[in-house]
Amino acid sequence: MNLYDLSRNELGHLLAEWGYGDYHAGRIWDYLYRQKVRSLEEMVELRPELRKRLAAETTLARLPTQLTIDSSDGLTRKFLLQLADGQEVETVLMRYPGRATACISTQAGCAMGCVFCATGQMGFVRHLTPGEIVAQVLHVVALLQEHSEELRNIVLMGMGEPLHNYDATMTAIDILTDDRGLAIGPRYITLSTVGLPPAIRRLADEERPVNLAVSLHAATDAGRAALVPINKRWPLGELIDACRYYVARRGRRIFFEWALIAGQNDTPEQAHALGRLLQGLEAHVNLIPLNPTDGYAGRPSDSAAVRHFQDILAEYGLPSTVRQRRGLDIAAGCGQLRAQKKNGR
Ligand code: SAH
Ligand code: SF4
Repeated sequence: MNLYDLSRNELGHLLAEWGYGDYHAGRIWDYLYRQKVRSLEEMVELRPELRKRLAAETTLARLPTQLTIDSSDGLTRKFLLQLADGQEVETVLMRYPGRATACISTQAGCAMGCVFCATGQMGFVRHLTPGEIVAQVLHVVALLQEHSEELRNIVLMGMGEPLHNYDATMTAIDILTDDRGLAIGPRYITLSTVGLPPAIRRLADEERPVNLAVSLHAATDAGRAALVPINKRWPLGELIDACRYYVARRGRRIFFEWALIAGQNDTPEQAHALGRLLQGLEAHVNLIPLNPTDGYAGRPSDSAAVRHFQDILAEYGLPSTVRQRRGLDIAAGCGQLRAQKKNGR
């Protein structure tokens, strides 16, 4: 059993089963997430027989680094981390003045098959465990600590679809936000989803005040299905209904992601359709010029098209931000580093 897989409550239950009070679970939790020890031997103040039992029945599975690449501006660092079964996932550290953001993966590969996405192009391999999600964060936290920096934001925007791996993702969020441990504020965590309505409704009904981002990319069913195949299963009407439910239930706005692809979804017609689609919804649109991938011929929109698109959204009172994808020169788009390594580049 990997200790990083357990929420604070689950650790308490395990220790109770072993006949130890919650005090001991608290000590172990402190070692894991405050002192951030790397081995059970470092838990020196635990009772020897408890440490022995932990050593016999549990592990502390950190993820070895396969590859580290820095962007030319030195602000983005990308890691390819290895899982116990040899699979690899990508984790990205983005530094902005005074705040650091980690981009974390939730699956090896992805089943959703979005045509422009390097992870989608590789297909689904498997879900990550909570501990594999948490270990990516610990990896970044350790690196920042060497420079006396703290991790502030986490975006679940790496490889995989977090709401397809719902339970593990939520356990990981519970571990990361526990205020006796890493204590990352839930409002500094953003979960990005391709848009699975039942899971969005479930998230709305639960008490995890993280930010929600929905990857829209098109505002008509035909246009979206061509980019995001899961739209055939969950068309826009059902998706936006679930989003309205989320906003009403949680009282929080939703971020909508839109990868701008020249001539494809950056037209005035699409901008008007988006403005109409989101009318009356507390929303913010993040426009991201496409990051080209080997498996898709689309090109990023030019800046004039981006500006025009944004102006039309403004006519609908829809706020938007243009985000440059960071670390383009190190293939920091989701799944791209792994894809390039596979192709021997
Ligand atoms: N599966 C989730 C989270 C991971 S993808 C989701 O789809 O939201 C994170 C974001 O990167 C999504 O908005 C996705 O659409 C976007 N993305 C993927 N490939 C991209 C590319 N080549 N260029 C621009 N954005 C991309
Ligand atoms: Fe999966 Fe997100 Fe990539 Fe779509 S964009 S294939 S949902 S990781």
